[in-house]
Amino acid sequence: PGLEPAVPLMSKEEILAQRQAHLGPSLSLSYRRPLQILRGRGQYLYDENGRAYLDVVNNVCHVGHSHPRVVAALAGQAAVLNTNTRYLHPNIVQFAERLLDTLPESLEVCFFVCSGSEANELALRLARTYTGAQDFIVIDGAYHGNTAALIDNSPYKHDGPGGKGAPQHIHTAVMPDPYRGSYKDLRGLLANRASVVLDEKPQRSGSRYAAHVGELAQGVLDAGRGLAGFIAEPLLGCGGQIVLPDGYLQEAFAHVRAAGGVCIADEVQVGFGRVGTHFWAFETQEVMPDIVTMGKPIGNGHPLAAVATTRAIADAFANGMEYFNTFGGNPVSCAVGSAVLDVIEEEGLQENALRVGEHLLRGLQALMEKHPLIGDVRGLGLFIGVELVRDRETLRPAAEEASYIVERMMEHGILLSIDGPLHNALKLKPPIVFTMEDADFLVHTLDKVLAEDAAQPTG
Ligand code: PMP
Repeated sequence: PGLEPAVPLMSKEEILAQRQAHLGPSLSLSYRRPLQILRGRGQYLYDENGRAYLDVVNNVCHVGHSHPRVVAALAGQAAVLNTNTRYLHPNIVQFAERLLDTLPESLEVCFFVCSGSEANELALRLARTYTGAQDFIVIDGAYHGNTAALIDNSPYKHDGPGGKGAPQHIHTAVMPDPYRGSYKDLRGLLANRASVVLDEKPQRSGSRYAAHVGELAQGVLDAGRGLAGFIAEPLLGCGGQIVLPDGYLQEAFAHVRAAGGVCIADEVQVGFGRVGTHFWAFETQEVMPDIVTMGKPIGNGHPLAAVATTRAIADAFANGMEYFNTFGGNPVSCAVGSAVLDVIEEEGLQENALRVGEHLLRGLQALMEKHPLIGDVRGLGLFIGVELVRDRETLRPAAEEASYIVERMMEHGILLSIDGPLHNALKLKPPIVFTMEDADFLVHTLDKVLAEDAAQPTG
């Protein structure tokens, strides 16, 4: 929209060679032939030739890439002052107040940091200081961040390539996956049929999965250890875009609290209105976390993240050791954070996520009827997963087909990603300015790609 084609300063080959020469080799790139992306606007990214790609991956640039309002707030404040938090400045208190207004009253204290990892790392420290205990329960397949303590808390990493497994103080709960998990409920049983109704409530598999959390909590106590807490995403992102069964978090939280632990909701991927019906994803599970961590969308791409907690936990943490974070909560970051909240509210983006998300979910569910490769379609708002299988009975994962589809969608100008422990779930989490037309274009293009020979289940 009104964008000049961007002019490349370096060829793709040059950039690739320089990356290989000078950047850590553990950095990955998307696509067999990587894209050079030089501009972003709204839900679109543009390559060096000015070709537009519909971005269905980026849940960081939540209110749209390079949103003029957010950019103006950033540039305006950067032109005047940026310092650490050791002077009085209105931006930090104004932003804290606005953020806390979106949360339950009991969460009344904020800490500002610079990344989701820093937020979760601080959350672990808060929980451990408050409880005096070390052990944590995490959900299998979860990713919570890149620090040493968070790799310990991330089965996605420590049980993946290069990982060394869970340390003794980390206890892994089975993934409450309604589609693939061993406890079936109504939704799981109907998953093979395109007639699944949108608002149909899963039955009590949530309690059965939560009971596993309870057993782990009891095991910690029986071993003479203490439970610091439980950290969970209210929808499982790296786990493969999984909507938790009803009652799961409520009962898991109760088990954790009975064992003396605190409950952390990791809203880094799913917060800020993305789920449509609520501002926070934990609200869809009707729970009250003790600590909420936020990242990615909070700064629309600016490195900002936050932790909200109770007065009691924050006070216990103030034990004499200062928590200092050089960049966290600086006036520029807080101006950006406030602008993002303004845009979500003024442009009605939570409502948009609900409306467009439901439309997209329905479109994808209709594709399930035509294409046997689609085993399950699930999601809330604009956080959707499409799980691909070679066989709807055995649920044999279609990982190669998923890679093929993502490459072909890119060639058609649509960016998607893959996740889940079996690498077979298409992940849909676009900026929440996504439109009905974008949803139709996505469904129509996916329909075409799914009809190609290479996208047929190979049995
Ligand atoms: N929590 C979740 C659920 C995440 O998905 C991520 C990042 N993918 C993080 C925490 C870590 O955030 P960051 O990369 O900003 O450190």
